[in-house]
Amino acid sequence: MLLSSVRSAVEQLLLPAECLLCHALLNPRDADRLVCPVCRHRWKPVRAPWCARCGQPEPHFGPCRLCAAWPSALRSARSAVWLTDGAQHAVHALKYNGLARIADDLALAMGSLRPHTAGPSVLIPIPLAPRRLRQRGYNQSERLARALARMWRIPVIVDLLIRTRETPTQTALTPGTRLANVAGAFEMRNTELGMRNGTQGVNSAFRIPHSTMILVDDVFTTGATLAEAARALEQAGATTIHAITFARANIPDFT
Ligand SMILES: [Zn+2]
Ligand SMILES: [Zn+2]
Repeated sequence: MLLSSVRSAVEQLLLPAECLLCHALLNPRDADRLVCPVCRHRWKPVRAPWCARCGQPEPHFGPCRLCAAWPSALRSARSAVWLTDGAQHAVHALKYNGLARIADDLALAMGSLRPHTAGPSVLIPIPLAPRRLRQRGYNQSERLARALARMWRIPVIVDLLIRTRETPTQTALTPGTRLANVAGAFEMRNTELGMRNGTQGVNSAFRIPHSTMILVDDVFTTGATLAEAARALEQAGATTIHAITFARANIPDFT
């Protein structure tokens, strides 16, 4: 996109070569980074023990409430770091300050999240609704997916999933309300990409029916958005879906 490359050139002219988070001068070999290695290492990794499926830290009492209603094709969700301090600042820069380049820094922290799969895999960013995309000028999840694709040398598929509507900010909702809130927010694109809506299993219209699909998003809150996107893929015949995000927000306590 012309606009985004102009934006990127302007950014590089205007921004001094210092870390966005701590303002330390960047080492020349990190000159194309926005976050210094020290700040990147301060991001707090999400660590086991966790629910094997949704990656939410235990303890759980009984079955995991968070992922019980997920579509069965969605096998796992993992996040690199907690959405605190510097990581939160970095996500904010990616989403609201027009700093699309910071996706490369965030993707570095996601290096270990690649699902272990035998066959081919593809990255699928969570799409934005068209109006939000026009406002922001880019899809932050697509930027993350493209950075991961360069690291892992696997393809990114955009325009496969489409978002029919933007959902309101979800932070104040309970997990159950969030699922209802995003229900039907995604659809599959027809024909051009060899897809059909509403086909199941053996009638899959995917060109590579056994590919592992890796959904990419910036932040995991309850996983409702990822689950809904996975549901659309599953209805079109996908059988193995994993989800990865840069950060994981703490879930408000509703008990
Ligand atoms: Zn720094
Ligand atoms: Zn779970």
